[in-house]
Amino acid sequence: MITHFIEYATYLLPKAVGSTIIHIRLNHNGVIEMLIDSHAHLDMPEFEKDREQVLERALEGGVTRVITIGIDLPSSLKALELANKYDFIFSTIGYHPHNAKDADDSTLEELAKLGREPKVIAWGEIGLDFYRRHSPPEKQKRIFEEQLDMAGHFDLPVIIHDRDAHREVFEILKEKGNTSRKGVIHCFSGDYKMAMAFIEMGFHISIPGTVTYKKASVVQEVAASIPIESLLIETDAPFLTPVPERGKRNEPLFVTYTARKIAELRQMDFRELARRTSENVNRLFRLP
Ligand SMILES: [Zn+2]
Repeated sequence: MITHFIEYATYLLPKAVGSTIIHIRLNHNGVIEMLIDSHAHLDMPEFEKDREQVLERALEGGVTRVITIGIDLPSSLKALELANKYDFIFSTIGYHPHNAKDADDSTLEELAKLGREPKVIAWGEIGLDFYRRHSPPEKQKRIFEEQLDMAGHFDLPVIIHDRDAHREVFEILKEKGNTSRKGVIHCFSGDYKMAMAFIEMGFHISIPGTVTYKKASVVQEVAASIPIESLLIETDAPFLTPVPERGKRNEPLFVTYTARKIAELRQMDFRELARRTSENVNRLFRLP
């Protein structure tokens, strides 16, 4: 583990590697803390100017792995490019429900060409968004279902986006999400009962930075009560920045605030929570 981390850090921070390693060792008595940001959009223009520094800050703060998410074909290609450049970054491919309107047979075929790339570890984010409705609901459903089949074909877990479509997403997953790998409901916004229904189907639940907001009692209850084996933590950076950075651009390092809040809600040691949720990510996505 330590060797790996040194390799990652050396790769990313050729100049700062010495001080970084010492910093981490001193802070944690030789034990490297592992916290994973299971969902970020590192390809987005918000990171164009300072992506290297953002990644450097994440590693220095103990965020040892980041999964960067594709939302359409160009973004999936860019996510994979980043994953191929940095050992500690993994990528997904897929058409977000907002972008379902741009998906057709040929773009999905292009995505499928990436399905067996070693650094592609999941299909997503896919799903339904009946809140913003950037794509017509019928098209969203069709593209969602087609991609569930494709994920099944490549034996990849799925990353599900569900906004104001809990019932429809649940029904579609019940019918089509029956692949062996299952997946995660990202940025979960339902209540405890809904969370448990997805968990009973074999899915994980991922909690974003909104759990740190004062009025977030529903998501706080979910984060505090679901079985630890089913819990993932994410930033959804550059969106949904947790307190105390709320108002700024989100970045993978800030997953630390979300993890601390969840540890507090669960009355659990922070490092234990980091370890358990990281194990969940590694197991679900079969990370090396
Ligand atoms: Zn996202």
